[in-house]
Amino acid sequence: MEELRQRFKEVCTHEGIVVYDPVTENPELVETQILQSNHLFANNLIQEYKNEFCPKLPRVHFDFVKDHRLNAFAFYDPQTKCGFIGIRTGAVGLIYDLFYRIMSHPEVLPNLGNVGVERLRQPYCSEGIVDDFSKLSILGNNPGGRLAEVFPIDDERKRYAESLALIAIEFFVIHELAHLANGHCEYDNKISSIPLFIEAQSGKSKVGLMVKQYFEVVADAHASLWTWLKRLKNMSDDQMTARSLLEKGNSIVIRTQLLMTDWVLAIVLMFWLFDISTNPDSLHTADHPPAVLRGIWANVHVFGKGTSEIPGSIFRSMIR
Ligand SMILES: [Zn+2]
Repeated sequence: MEELRQRFKEVCTHEGIVVYDPVTENPELVETQILQSNHLFANNLIQEYKNEFCPKLPRVHFDFVKDHRLNAFAFYDPQTKCGFIGIRTGAVGLIYDLFYRIMSHPEVLPNLGNVGVERLRQPYCSEGIVDDFSKLSILGNNPGGRLAEVFPIDDERKRYAESLALIAIEFFVIHELAHLANGHCEYDNKISSIPLFIEAQSGKSKVGLMVKQYFEVVADAHASLWTWLKRLKNMSDDQMTARSLLEKGNSIVIRTQLLMTDWVLAIVLMFWLFDISTNPDSLHTADHPPAVLRGIWANVHVFGKGTSEIPGSIFRSMIR
């Protein structure tokens, strides 16, 4: 694996992208711990995807990068015959920050967990959304870092925030895998001089904006179905019961609807987070469709098709 990391670094350095090195980070920071656990999560996910749905997928190396110009990227490297995925560390930080802050607010989902211990915390409640994690304030000087400052106080609410963050991160990773599995990266590579298939609203894609947007819709459809089918629709009875027990004050709980709510909350908020100033004109000017449309399409994919019984064969047929 070390030689793949070297190759990843080589390509990133050539493109002016800094690769995240956990060795140089403060292990006390919650941010460092979250990146570490998500690194493991992503590698397991890639293996699961390969084993269950796409045995022909080449070896894939996953790493985090520090570059505010992009959210993620993927590329297929003919030299090593391997796929590579990079995700911005700040993108992971923003996702956790958003869900922690939402769930630490005493008026949000008050039936969930013990909301009585939560309190309005400023400036975090009024801080709004930014596109760069490093622009968020860290006023409390908490040795655990920014994310430790905005934890919900109630453990159940904190765990719920983390479960939503994990759905969003999983969407991210599967979206990138779909670009690799469907040959989008190779296609792009043949046309473009840039070897990376980049997730950013640059509008500079060489393959043509409509083609690139089509690739994005395919990758989103893939990630939508995966995150819904694998993590929520197929939950065990025990997992469903544990989820239901988070709801306080409801004597009758419709479990499937709770799971749908969780999924929609995670995916729609993630799209909103990464493209706050949605511009409908981006259909004609950018290489990603407007975020609001992507959020709606993701829902259509899952609740238009996904809630009827989807056999694994249909999902597999989406991969070449
Ligand atoms: Zn994409």
